[in-house]
Amino acid sequence: MTSIPDAPSAARSSSNHLGSPGTGVLVTGGGSGIGRATALALAEVGRPVAIWDIDAAGAEETAARCRAFGVTAHAAVVDVADSSVIGSAVTAAADALGSLGGFVHAAGVSGAGTVDDIDDVVWDETLNINLRAAAMICRHLLVPFREAGPGSAVVLISSIEGLFGSVMLTAYCASKGGVLGVMRSLAQRFAMEGFRVNAVCPGAVATPMLEPAFAIPGFREQLEERTPLQRISTPDEIARPIRFLLSSEASFVTGAHLTVDGGLTAVTAI
Ligand code: NAD
Repeated sequence: MTSIPDAPSAARSSSNHLGSPGTGVLVTGGGSGIGRATALALAEVGRPVAIWDIDAAGAEETAARCRAFGVTAHAAVVDVADSSVIGSAVTAAADALGSLGGFVHAAGVSGAGTVDDIDDVVWDETLNINLRAAAMICRHLLVPFREAGPGSAVVLISSIEGLFGSVMLTAYCASKGGVLGVMRSLAQRFAMEGFRVNAVCPGAVATPMLEPAFAIPGFREQLEERTPLQRISTPDEIARPIRFLLSSEASFVTGAHLTVDGGLTAVTAI
């Protein structure tokens, strides 16, 4: 009689949960918000995670919560705007996890301000963290990705502000549009090695980044009203599409951006 295989158990999920490989993933900005939710979603399917943040306590808390899923989790204080430390930090992450076959760039700042207010400091900080770091980290990934194998993949976090303009977010819009350009360019380079590179474009997500905007009376209500799904998203509603893009379920998806905004940009410009 042919035996029916057991359903995947949590213990075996590390190599075969929804196509998720068992290799380690580096998540920048993993101390909060979408980065933390992504690290947890990956740990849930058995992937080891390296969490980088400038917030040491936040990174360590995420790592501790990931370890509860039985995976290796490595927390490190890394300022992604400091290109000089990236190479050694990538090596340390790969060593700590045993393999590095995924990368999610979730570190980010809003750099809020109209063009009237903007100065070099805000511009450089926003562009360096949101955009330059994505490329500077990816340039160090080819070696560990080759070692990890053909399922390796990158997801960069852009935004609906990478697709449309927003008067209050001049530097942010520049950085998030730039992320999509970098993603498309890297997709071509990484494809030469069998690796994939994609981006997600979230709409409004309930994280500390949006707290100043939500303090403006009526802002959240207006946003929810204009969104077809009539609400903003939770961080894990962004994390799960990211996990999908890192998995073999998305094996022919590269050079693409996935908008995750409750339908907002399908019906209106922002
Ligand atoms: P968040 O503020 O909760 O998390 C951002 C994290 O990045 C923080 O832990 C912060 O300490 C870290 N960080 C900031 N500068 C850093 C640096 N130089 N080096 C390392 N880490 C640094 O915000 P979030 O909402 O989770 O944002 C995550 C990403 O998602 C960002 O790129 C953001 O632009 C993007 N995004 C957010 C929303 C939203 O509505 N929250 C919407 C679209 C896109």
